[in-house]
Amino acid sequence: MTAPMLGDRFATTHRFGLGAFEVTAVLDGNVPRDAVKPPFCLDLDDADIRALAEASHVPADRFEHPCVPTLVNTGTELVLFDVGFGERGQPGRTGLLRDRMAEAGYAPEDVDLVVFTHVHPDHILGVRIGDAPAFPNARYAISQVEFDAWTSGDTLPASRAENRRMFLDLIVPLADRMTFLAPGDSVAPGITAMEAYGHSPGHMMFMIEDGGKQVLLWGDVTNHYVFSLRVPEARVVFDDDPDKAIATRKRVLDMVATDRIPVIGHHMPFPALGYVDRHAGSYRWEAASYQMRL
Ligand SMILES: [Zn+2]
Repeated sequence: MTAPMLGDRFATTHRFGLGAFEVTAVLDGNVPRDAVKPPFCLDLDDADIRALAEASHVPADRFEHPCVPTLVNTGTELVLFDVGFGERGQPGRTGLLRDRMAEAGYAPEDVDLVVFTHVHPDHILGVRIGDAPAFPNARYAISQVEFDAWTSGDTLPASRAENRRMFLDLIVPLADRMTFLAPGDSVAPGITAMEAYGHSPGHMMFMIEDGGKQVLLWGDVTNHYVFSLRVPEARVVFDDDPDKAIATRKRVLDMVATDRIPVIGHHMPFPALGYVDRHAGSYRWEAASYQMRL
């Protein structure tokens, strides 16, 4: 008897405890991309990109972009950071957050608060299913700077015109259920908003702390575990203000490497949890293993 070929299989949910909190990563999906430059390493020549890719055991001409929303159960609230592609995903490949939340034990109705790190499509499209809210009992929170910048549109690059239409359609109508965040604001007890501007005008990251443990959910401070960390000073197509994004990336990488803070990154390899080490004049992603369970 010959066993059938079953196709690729990989983890799509992951949960760990942080103090009395529970943190659950859910893979909304993997987006295949057919080039590394662009979007990454705009300042590097092709030979340097090939050398970096080869040394890091990844292809130099394509990559897979994981999108990983995160749920934090504080014991009093279930907080969801970013909402994936929803119905606008590629069927069977992205937009799978709600299905996979069910595998992890949560219904859409369980979410009390949706927090947007920023409003790029992969972080907001899943907020509505048809005409109905995808998380019907949720309030919302977003950076005030982000909301204002996308409302006015004045500082956005021209390439974000379609993205701005998505924002006006999906996010602006939520304003009456929205909390507008400034850096330092508490989103929920143990969850603090922090400024990480540049990737988008008001992009925010969030320190999550309980019981003497902490993890930094940094959204899109980095967009690739090799190219963003090994060459943090390179311009990236995804960054709306490249210079500010580079300054933020370098500041945050320095902080988490110095303070040895574990990180949740929306586009880091699933389960999007790891550490940042200094390496060869820049940084290297060190995927977490069992640290959170011990
Ligand atoms: Zn993103």
